[in-house]
Amino acid sequence: MAFPTDTEIEIGRSIEGRPITVMRRGDPTGARVLVVGAIHGNEDAGVAVVDRLMTESLPEGVELWLVRSMNPDGQAHQVRQNARDVDLNRNFPENWGLLGQPGDWQYAGTGPASEPETQAMVALGDAVRPDLILWYHQDLFRISPGSGRSGEIRTRYATIAGLPIVEITGGTYTGTASQWSRTVLPDLGVGITVELGPTVSDTEVSDHVTAALTIATEFF
Ligand SMILES: [Zn+2]
Repeated sequence: MAFPTDTEIEIGRSIEGRPITVMRRGDPTGARVLVVGAIHGNEDAGVAVVDRLMTESLPEGVELWLVRSMNPDGQAHQVRQNARDVDLNRNFPENWGLLGQPGDWQYAGTGPASEPETQAMVALGDAVRPDLILWYHQDLFRISPGSGRSGEIRTRYATIAGLPIVEITGGTYTGTASQWSRTVLPDLGVGITVELGPTVSDTEVSDHVTAALTIATEFF
C-alpha cells in the first residue's frame, strides 16, 4: 500500500462500511508516531487532538500517522463497541483471549483480529512499524505507569498534559491495542493509552499536542 503525504487515505472499512483513514505527514526519515483519536466510539474527545496534529507545524525528526477513529461505527452510534458489539480494545491479536459475549462491555469477538477495524489497524502497523502509538480514551483522566524507558516516556507525556500517573484497573486486559503496539517493533515499540477526562478544552488539546510531539522528539 502506498501512503501519500498530507492527505487522508482509506485503510479499511468498518462493519457498516464507514471508511477508516490515515494521514501521513512530517519528516519521512523521522520517528514514526501513530496517533489514534478514538477506539471506543463513545470516548472520542481524542479526535480533536488528531485534528490539531493534522495542521500543527511539526518538529524535525517526527513523522505522524494520524487515524481520527478506528471505530467510526461506534462513534456514529456513540457506543463503546463496533457494530458487531465487539470491544475493539480486546480484539487485537497479541494476547487475545475469549472474553464475554455480544452485549458484554468487554466482548472480545470470535477470534484474534476478527473485526475489520482491527484488521485495518494491524495491516497499518505491519506496513508502518511505528516507534510509538498513542491511543486516546475517556474519561479516567490518567496514564497508567510503565517501567524503564516506557515509564519515563509516560511520565514525560503526563507531566506536559497535566495527567496523573495512575493504574488503569477494573477490566480484563487481553487483546488490547497497547499490548499489540509493543509487538509492532519488538523491544522498542511503545504503546500508550491516554485517558482523557470527560471533556477536553482547547487548552488541553494544545497540551496533548505538545506532549505527543515532545515525547516523539525526545525519546525516538
Ligand atoms: Zn476506552
